[in-house]
Amino acid sequence: MGEFDLIARHFKRPVRRAALGVGDDCALLAPRPGMQLAVSSDMLVEGRHFFANVDPEDLGHKALAVNLSDLAACGAEPLAFTLALALPSADDAWLAAFSRGLFALADAHGCELVGGDTTRGPLNICITVFGEVPAGQALLRSGARAGDDLYVSGTLGDARLALEALQGRVALPPALLAAARQRLERPTPRVALGQQLRGVASSAIDLSDGLLGDVGHVLRASGVGARIQMENAIECIATNYYGVSASSLFDQDFLLQCVLSGGDDYELAFTAPAAARAAVAAAALQAGTAVRRIGQIEAAPSLRVVDAAGRELALAFSSFDHFA
Ligand code: ADP
Ligand code: MG
Repeated sequence: MGEFDLIARHFKRPVRRAALGVGDDCALLAPRPGMQLAVSSDMLVEGRHFFANVDPEDLGHKALAVNLSDLAACGAEPLAFTLALALPSADDAWLAAFSRGLFALADAHGCELVGGDTTRGPLNICITVFGEVPAGQALLRSGARAGDDLYVSGTLGDARLALEALQGRVALPPALLAAARQRLERPTPRVALGQQLRGVASSAIDLSDGLLGDVGHVLRASGVGARIQMENAIECIATNYYGVSASSLFDQDFLLQCVLSGGDDYELAFTAPAAARAAVAAAALQAGTAVRRIGQIEAAPSLRVVDAAGRELALAFSSFDHFA
């Protein structure tokens, strides 16, 4: 199978919304009038972002999911994506499974593959997504204001819990490991929630490197600080997998570390004025995604995690940084 057969067999499909798809030197997109194009790239590198033996169908899903998560954080609607792929070999079965996982998620979001690049090399997947958002309505990191509530969607820390178990540092009952592993290997981008939060949230970010660091980006961009209630944060770890609660298996410090510094959650963290609580609840309901209020934006810079008595916790961990 040559390069062009590989592309034709696994990645070329009839175009839908795009003006021109795979096969020419450029793809052509046709965003609707009054819309801005939202663009983001994310790369997945073997050994760094995934294990060599990961299920290729899950990998196809995750490669696109982490990109859709960035569109979600901006409140954009997915349109199209490009796929730059380095492959050690043209393994037909691997490619079939990878593209199945990729296109299943793409189709669920009406996001079409319009181009890319394919080369031989160590396994490396780089996707660029394109979305559209009404001009001026994108959710940004810079809009948080003192007094706003701080929310997160879904559950946090499960991906870290799975990673700890897969690397042999903790033992998990099989059912709990399977559920946590789903969260690590098949994250759900909160695309509908992001769009519902347009005009409601004052700022947003997606959580890829850990809550502390990612919320830190919002705080710096907005020139504010925040206080997170520990007891609310700890509830973010899916407390009940098949009747087994994580809190019955692990101590609070470990769970808090998973929630606050674990990466790969691909949930949204966002802020909204207290007056918008009903609107936030309505947006969550519309999107079918639970949200939880975990703290407050404050004028004093930096991020504080406090216990029920309001005492600040001394934390011995931080978010992920590839070059730290
Ligand atoms: P060029 O030489 O102009 O860069 P290529 O020969 O690399 O073009 O690719 C041929 C066509 O196939 C282009 O339209 C490109 O966008 C598309 N393409 C290449 N790799 C992929 C891929 N992995 N997924 C989707 N489209 C791809
Ligand atoms: Mg090329």
